[in-house]
Amino acid sequence: MDIPRIFNISESAHRIHNPFSQEKLAILGVALRMASGSRILDLGSGSGEMLCTWARDFGITGTGVDKSRLFTQQAERRAAALGVADKVRFIHGDAAGYVSDEKVDVAACVGATWIGGGVAGTIELLARSLRTYGVILIGEPFWRQLPPTQEIAQQCLAESVSDFLTLPELLKSLSDLGHDVVEMVLADEDSWDRYEAAKWLTMRRWLDANPHDELASEVRGKLATEPQRYATYTREYLGWGVFALMKR
Ligand code: SAH
Repeated sequence: MDIPRIFNISESAHRIHNPFSQEKLAILGVALRMASGSRILDLGSGSGEMLCTWARDFGITGTGVDKSRLFTQQAERRAAALGVADKVRFIHGDAAGYVSDEKVDVAACVGATWIGGGVAGTIELLARSLRTYGVILIGEPFWRQLPPTQEIAQQCLAESVSDFLTLPELLKSLSDLGHDVVEMVLADEDSWDRYEAAKWLTMRRWLDANPHDELASEVRGKLATEPQRYATYTREYLGWGVFALMKR
């Protein structure tokens, strides 16, 4: 079981697989007033940066589940490097339907809401692991400006304009699902660049090391076109944020 190989190539050097910087992740932990000993479940935990740094900085404990073997291994290495291997655990597997044995204080899905079939389904899934008065974290894109055409939405790598809401619409939809939105930290252009531009150097180095790989021409094509596509479309139109929810 794994994710498509192209992501394991282009994001192999990323610690955060989202348009968030280290600083934003730290700001989020402080904003949530994360208490020592809090238990966190993270579905689609990637390379484990949120759990590992929050274990180091705030003394949380946590479990992450991720479908990428590489990212899960990187998460384990990161936990060891930060001296928090006794606080966090990473499971390689499909997080669809994953419910923790023990109830957690924070249940998160940061940038992988397809795991529950969309935002509403993911909130329902996370709620099954959550204690009463616990906090749900959802990382999700939104339109900073509504794309005027479907073509522009597709250039932002959406299937259509209707894939995402504007920020006010997204906040309303979370409220309509019966939750108070109690915090949010949003990406900005600089943190988007850390996610997108970091792929370019990784792809270039991978190409130099793997010129005859079956994905080499696909990666070469992406490296040639991604900077301009990203600057023209994603960077202008797409926002992203982590939203903290408490059931009303
Ligand atoms: N939350 C992490 C990773 C976000 S990227 C971070 O912020 O860094 C999305 C992640 O979801 C990737 O790590 C990918 O491997 C993982 N993923 C995709 N489908 C999944 C599934 N069905 N179950 C578990 N993880 C999945």
